[in-house]
Amino acid sequence: MKPLLTCLFAVFAFCMVWGTADSWAATPPDRQIAITIDDLPAGAANSMSAAAITEMTAKLLATLRQQQIPVVGFVNEGKLYKWGEVDERIKALNMWLDAGFELGNHTFGHISLNKAGLKDFEESVVRGETVTRLLLAQHKMKLRYFRHPYLDVGRDLETRRDAEAFLVARGYRLAPVTMDAWDWAFSRVYDDAKKRADTALQQEVVSAYLSYSAAMFDYEEKLSCDLIGYEPKQILLLHANPLEADHIAELLELLRKRGYRFITLEDALSDQAYGMPDTYVGEEGTGWLEHWAITRGRPPLGAPVFPPAVAQRSKALPPPPGETPSGGTANP
Ligand SMILES: [Zn+2]
Repeated sequence: MKPLLTCLFAVFAFCMVWGTADSWAATPPDRQIAITIDDLPAGAANSMSAAAITEMTAKLLATLRQQQIPVVGFVNEGKLYKWGEVDERIKALNMWLDAGFELGNHTFGHISLNKAGLKDFEESVVRGETVTRLLLAQHKMKLRYFRHPYLDVGRDLETRRDAEAFLVARGYRLAPVTMDAWDWAFSRVYDDAKKRADTALQQEVVSAYLSYSAAMFDYEEKLSCDLIGYEPKQILLLHANPLEADHIAELLELLRKRGYRFITLEDALSDQAYGMPDTYVGEEGTGWLEHWAITRGRPPLGAPVFPPAVAQRSKALPPPPGETPSGGTANP
């Protein structure tokens, strides 16, 4: 057998074993994942004080640093501008770099390319560079990654490619997402429960989040195998919120038990999967596994259902003032 065929056979065999028999397997497979965290300095920055953002950031970074997890955080600089708090909010952002992490651009105003159009999108990209670029330079780093808000990459292919060409010309590498368990949607309910000191509900939401994450990881691992014959170096989307600050250690443990090692985004992007044909466009932003599947004319089926109890509680909450999540434009 030629080396390439041998290799392909090996990855298919790996997927077949793990796709059907994870229950009896004693040792998890060797998996790799890069963690990315969006909406810095905080997803709900408009309804948090600078002191609360600083406290949340310190807690989140302490766990990530202690466990030596490489992370790229994606910034919405618009969230830095609150009267009387600008310096403090910039300091909270700078904590990421002081702790050894990297920052990328997520547009100034968390702009959807699908809704705003190319011109406004490009303006928000440029406006979103000012502070981040300065802070990175102080740490002898360069601004090199971009993540689309809502994962909205364009409603038509011309717009998508124009935006990508613009971003590449400004020196960016696009940061795809292959794993996403909508932590922002859980965090809305968690934050509200925390403010009301409802610890029972907080715990309920954490359990639901971890269960849904496990179900999504199952789904995305199997989709990877079905689609490309192996599990690529995955890229997980999380958000800077109190839920992650308080409970990311449990999520990391869940990933470790599935055999994941934590790698840099740069390392993840070296996987050949990220060079596969991708012509996805649409109203709704989605992950790259879905991009590849739809590009091949095979829209994926069977995604886990978002827990209805959490969705109901989330819908009952008042809409946050100008707050927006990263991924999935549909409300859970
Ligand atoms: Zn976002």
